[in-house]
Amino acid sequence: MTTNNLESVYFLLVDDLDENLLALEALLRREGLVLLKAKSGAEALELLLQHEVALALLDVQMPEMSGFELAELMRGTERTRSVPIIFLTAGSADQQRRFRGYEAGAIDFLQKPIEPDILKSKAAVFFELYRRRQEVARYATSLEEADRYKDAFLAMLAHELRNPLAPLRNGLEVLSKTPGEDMARDVLAMLKRQVSHMSRLIDDLLDISRIRSGKIELRLDDASIQCVVETALDLSRPMMETAQHQLTVHMPETPIRLNMDVTRIAQAVGNLLNNAAKYTADQGEISLDIRLDGDILVIIVADNGIGIPADKLEHIFELFMQIEDAQTYSQGGLGIGLALVRRIIDMHGGSITAESGGLRKGSTFTMRLPGARVGTAVQTHTAAPPLVEDKQEKSLRILVVDDNIDAAQTVTWMLEMLGHDVIQAHAGESALEKAHDFKPDAILLDIGLPDISGYDVCRQLRQKDAFKNTIIIAQTGWGQKRDRDMAFESGFDHHLVKPASPDDFTRVLKLGRTRA
Ligand code: ADP
Repeated sequence: MTTNNLESVYFLLVDDLDENLLALEALLRREGLVLLKAKSGAEALELLLQHEVALALLDVQMPEMSGFELAELMRGTERTRSVPIIFLTAGSADQQRRFRGYEAGAIDFLQKPIEPDILKSKAAVFFELYRRRQEVARYATSLEEADRYKDAFLAMLAHELRNPLAPLRNGLEVLSKTPGEDMARDVLAMLKRQVSHMSRLIDDLLDISRIRSGKIELRLDDASIQCVVETALDLSRPMMETAQHQLTVHMPETPIRLNMDVTRIAQAVGNLLNNAAKYTADQGEISLDIRLDGDILVIIVADNGIGIPADKLEHIFELFMQIEDAQTYSQGGLGIGLALVRRIIDMHGGSITAESGGLRKGSTFTMRLPGARVGTAVQTHTAAPPLVEDKQEKSLRILVVDDNIDAAQTVTWMLEMLGHDVIQAHAGESALEKAHDFKPDAILLDIGLPDISGYDVCRQLRQKDAFKNTIIIAQTGWGQKRDRDMAFESGFDHHLVKPASPDDFTRVLKLGRTRA
């Protein structure tokens, strides 16, 4: 950073005599320094309001307000509290006066007539000190800015990466239901594994910015832990199977209910199970235990894997924290899983702890969630069966609108395999025209379109009687509450975050028109 970029430094000189002010000015003048001159305490306070001052040189004896009184007023105000003060006294200040001066915040006393060199060198120290502070403040500001840009970039990157992933995933889903050669099947299985690994990494990337900006939102529902476990097991099954681990699950028969965000809690339990699978050598033993302790739901995930050194235990829940030795076992990760788990559990008012006997002694993670109870109604999670087998009873006319042609095409294939009659549009205006001609029962509408936004398309459709009963579903890359609210305000019935799974489509189509 060059001196040219730096702002001026201000010193305040206060003396009731013009000649003293002029003498001080002549002594202190230097490039980059602005000398503010005041002939009274009142004038000085006025100047202090207008400028940030690096040093105040105060004459002690002034007619209306003494230097000490002025210093006391400066100490009483937040803005001027830490301005360094040097008192200028005529004759030697006695002990008592010095004491009062220091109490008022003086850092030094100089005796008149002033020794020019001494004053100059002291002033130079304060000038430099202030300059350093300015520099540090500038660095801090630019660092903060860079940090914000980076977070925004990460969020954008994750969002953009999801777009090509959606058609990839859907395409694979369609292919896997099509009969083919053995070898093609193997390749397909491999592609599916890799794509789902990539999806997980991208979801994590998106969650990093959510954790850092505190923007994770919960969708609370009264649900049973049994459904959560089912989803968590689904999430971790591929890793468990690949490593041939033996997984034991202990869970009460009677449903335990809790007010929770089902998706996020399943993600938290799934993360712990995936970690157990990742950090345990093949054919390990992993267990998931669930029990009720009073009104606390206790979820314990234990493994007999590589374990966690004692000095790392308290750090593993920090963002980006990874234990180096453990990385040889890991199949890739960003070090955010546990930070996310802790955040989710915190937001539910619960706690999570980790224990380990040390290296190669396995690890145990214990989650505690308050407010649980034995539920009467068993609301088993009806995970929709795989897409193709699950034919809708009724074939619907569906208009798919997405400017990403591959995304539109793969969704179309999926919906056609479900027995629906599907057409596509790739922009807002053409969507309006096609909707008018085709009279669809349902419209799957992307929000970011090249001409008019999906919100506007939906609003225009809802104004026409012909579309009062049409199921309109928003599809966006952003799943924040604000986006959902916007969608519902514009007349959408449902909101799906990309990439939506076949199950998601089936579910919302079955729910039908909800906001008539
Ligand atoms: P990631 O697995 O992506 O590195 P996590 O936040 O999920 O990130 O975990 C942080 C670190 O904690 C891991 O890198 C690993 O060193 C350690 N760790 C997590 N779970 C286990 C486990 N079950 N056994 C041993 N180490 C673990």
